[in-house]
Amino acid sequence: MRRVAVLGATGSIGASALDVIARHPDRLTANVLAAGRNVDALVALCHTHRPDHAVIADPALFNELRAKLADAGVPTAAHAGMQAIDELASGDACDTVVAAIVGAAGLDSTLAAVRAGKRVALANKESLVLAGELVMRTARESGADIVPVDSEHNAIFQCLPARDGRAARDTSGLRRLVLTASGGPFRGRTRESLRDVTPAQAVAHPRWSMGPKISVDSATLMNKGLEVIEAHHLFGVAPDAIDVIVHPQSLVHSFVEFVDGSTLAQLGLPDMRTALAVGLGWPDRLQSGVSGLDLLAQGGRLDFEAPDLDAFPCLPLAFKALRAGGAAPAVLNAANEAAVDAFLAGRVGFLDIAALVADALDAHADAPGGDLAALRDADRRARAHVAARLDRSS
Ligand code: NAD
Ligand code: MG
Repeated sequence: MRRVAVLGATGSIGASALDVIARHPDRLTANVLAAGRNVDALVALCHTHRPDHAVIADPALFNELRAKLADAGVPTAAHAGMQAIDELASGDACDTVVAAIVGAAGLDSTLAAVRAGKRVALANKESLVLAGELVMRTARESGADIVPVDSEHNAIFQCLPARDGRAARDTSGLRRLVLTASGGPFRGRTRESLRDVTPAQAVAHPRWSMGPKISVDSATLMNKGLEVIEAHHLFGVAPDAIDVIVHPQSLVHSFVEFVDGSTLAQLGLPDMRTALAVGLGWPDRLQSGVSGLDLLAQGGRLDFEAPDLDAFPCLPLAFKALRAGGAAPAVLNAANEAAVDAFLAGRVGFLDIAALVADALDAHADAPGGDLAALRDADRRARAHVAARLDRSS
């Protein structure tokens, strides 16, 4: 029996992971559920999935969680605080961790699980953008198997052969990776026409149903930029060998091109349960609840176009940060999180997201990224930089 900790259980990925787990009571059990602040949603999940442990990240909510679990007659043990999440993700209560906390807040628990040698089904791309070298090096040392569940990276994982039977992929003979992007809700629009788009318009993704932060990232194409950095770390591929192509149907989840001219792709409906089933079942295939791909029913077309780098400058900004190295990707990620928060709160416009990130990168691009402390410091400075900009303009 695989005992799974679902971190970010109340989110979009958490729901998909729990849906797959519940289909396999003979081989999967959700033993730890962790969430940020939504006690009621966490208690409801505990009622359904009966984990041994539930953790709420905000320590002030511990008593409420404990009382509501008791009221619901659920025997799950209550915990609170980020440290409790790290301890449960690395301890005996699980052998597999679904890392689906949103943002840099997911780094510590991802690292704790990797250090402890767990199977990590990794959705939290920000932890790789912030500290990819450290996370991957730690996995090599501990023997942790990281199976990417970001759909593009999961596609690449499926297309590349295994090395030594582990999750690490064999990239010999690889020429380049091509990440597909849906283009988001504003595909085809000019930069100027995006000045006044609202948060509600930005989070209305045409193909995928996701949490608010990644939905805005998809609208700016920063999501694809973060994914380029994620792919670089996961598969050890140089920035020049990673391309992005817009594919509005979101049925081809990425391409892998080899030196002999062969290109492999993974296709499927845009439903994250497929990638989660791969992450949870690998090397076996599991039923995920997702139906097969009927291309005719999907309109019979697969279209591709180049990304518009003028309308969506976040994508080139991410390449710039990756090439700069050091803590530049950490700065990009933190500035983006702060800018997206401000956009969702109605404090800045859509175009300001890229402008704030560019500004933070210009100011802090040379920050050293030697160790975790340096990366955290860069993350803090970038957030402070954006906050100061916001204060000045309000
Ligand atoms: P979401 O906003 O729907 O859910 C986020 C989850 O994280 C919630 O359970 C929330 O309670 C929890 N959380 C937030 N802050 C926390 C904290 N400080 N401590 C503990 N828990 C905290 O987000 P999502 O769409 O599920 O995305 C989760 C991650 O997966 C992100 O990194 C995203 O980029 C990645 N991802 C998502 C999708 C998707 O389809 N949704 C696809 C690929 C990758
Ligand atoms: Mg993705």
